[in-house]
Amino acid sequence: MISEAVPDAAVTGQVRCPTCGAVQAWCDTCHRCRCDLTLLRQVAGTASASRRQCLRELQGGRVPEALRHARRLYALSPDRPAARLLAVCHLLLGSWAAAARMAEIAEFRR
Ligand SMILES: [Zn+2]
Repeated sequence: MISEAVPDAAVTGQVRCPTCGAVQAWCDTCHRCRCDLTLLRQVAGTASASRRQCLRELQGGRVPEALRHARRLYALSPDRPAARLLAVCHLLLGSWAAAARMAEIAEFRR
């Protein structure tokens, strides 16, 4: 059962159905058009887990591992918070150009 495998953070808040645009609480099936949302929910759960693992690695000073999780997070969810985490990882590793590029994305992406 998908809902048991999805981390808590992924099932809080709301989701917009990619088919009909209905905004609703996380669920496996859209309440309006009955579209299957389980894959979307899995992606959100994996992204949430990657974000938590990245923060855990940063807290432990394991920056290369944090970067790996940040990259996975950004691939799954290319939003401003993910870009910020990538920028921090690159900054801590001394990759200035990559840090600047991700910071710019974090600052200006809608
Ligand atoms: Zn729908």
